[in-house]
Amino acid sequence: MRDDAPNSWEARADAHSFYGFTDLPSVAERGAVVLTHGKGPYVYDVHGREYLDANSGLWNMVAGFDHPGLTEAAKAQYDRFPGYHAFFGRMSDQTVMLSEKLIEVSPFPRGKVFYTNSGSEANDTMVKMLWFLGGAEDQPERRKIITRKNAYHGVTAVSASMTGKPYNEVFGLPLDGFIHLTCPHYWREGRSGETEADFTKRLAKELEDVLEEEGPETIAGFFAEPVMGAGGVIPPPDGYFQAIQKILKKHDIPLIADEVICGFGRTGAVWGCESYGFTPDAIISSKNLTAGYFPMGAVILSPDLSDRLQAASEAIEEFPHGFTASGHPVGSAIALKAIDVILNEGLIENARSLTPIFEAHMARLAKHPHIGEARGKGLMGALEAVRDKDTKEPFSSDLSISERIANTCTDLGLICRPLGQAVVLCPAFIMTEAQMEEMFAKLEKALKQIFAEVT
Ligand SMILES: *Cc1c(COP(=O)(O)O)cnc(C)c1O
Repeated sequence: MRDDAPNSWEARADAHSFYGFTDLPSVAERGAVVLTHGKGPYVYDVHGREYLDANSGLWNMVAGFDHPGLTEAAKAQYDRFPGYHAFFGRMSDQTVMLSEKLIEVSPFPRGKVFYTNSGSEANDTMVKMLWFLGGAEDQPERRKIITRKNAYHGVTAVSASMTGKPYNEVFGLPLDGFIHLTCPHYWREGRSGETEADFTKRLAKELEDVLEEEGPETIAGFFAEPVMGAGGVIPPPDGYFQAIQKILKKHDIPLIADEVICGFGRTGAVWGCESYGFTPDAIISSKNLTAGYFPMGAVILSPDLSDRLQAASEAIEEFPHGFTASGHPVGSAIALKAIDVILNEGLIENARSLTPIFEAHMARLAKHPHIGEARGKGLMGALEAVRDKDTKEPFSSDLSISERIANTCTDLGLICRPLGQAVVLCPAFIMTEAQMEEMFAKLEKALKQIFAEVT
């Protein structure tokens, strides 16, 4: 129970601020964590308590919380040109350079970039681009969007409709025309006796059936995270993207990779699509794009989609879309530096060299009788708690098992995230081996304590 005074930071947080995606009864009981600053992968609260953040903020603070190169890039650009837009044929020099860099590091030989302030807006922007193309190319019926159950694509009305989570029902979402296929999670969705290859085949068949039912000419695009993030860190089954893309290509349906989490090193390659050996028709980027130092999203289009959008826009003089802060010069300068830091200053190498240690700990914890599955890719992973390992029966939801584990971690000075019955880890790329050991030691202590309490 909390015992803070009415004028405490915790009480003041509750009094005048809304939290996003927050279990309010738990905060009412425990109090908010009000943070003042960070150092490397650690953050500090108003009482001076230290927490190792095993989630890199929200997947994004991959360079830690005090990277001097990033804060210097921000300060220098604020001094030089603190804000501008990318409307009416104007844009900052930083934005010009960022687009060149993004195309250079993208899987595309050439292409163009459109900027937003967030990943949600980037997905919305991509959907509007596809709708716009449908209208411009005499296929006005091409409007439906296919995603997967458990996918996370954001919170705006359209990106929430793409998100395959039941909680969006409270908003009366999804909007019409958003179709959610089976979550590609072999451990949970695979049938008894079904091989992983057969599971992939069944998912491909489901896509074919849906296309036939809906009419492939009514489908504007298929969006997928290479590894599902907020759905609980779910890597695809073997051959999944190859099987799906083959079907989509037959019907000229673009495959859009939502790389908001996977992009810039999380899976070990620059892009998640690279890790899984496919080239999408567009990439949605955010989060790591600025290493979390500025709100920014980007839609990166392949040559084909770039050319078509350019032609369709010229035909009516303009593409009527854009945000006031799209291509913000400070965000652009930070993103340029972040890409440099991740790709050229050793961050992605460090992430790669930490991955075997991360995987070894995950494999070790997977042996626990109440861990049903330890899964992941690169430096993102999830441990799924189960009551019964053989039947995969979950704990009763009243037990709030993952919240309890995460709360115990917080008490031990470790921030990790409960997601369904899983606990998610996505450490910063700057972590040391010692910090990785600290992360798993604290997590293991919390797991042991909570499993002892509930069994
Ligand atoms: C976080 C996330 C988004 C939404 O990004 P916001 O910046 O929160 O709007 C979209 N797609 C994926 C895969 C994400 O993880």
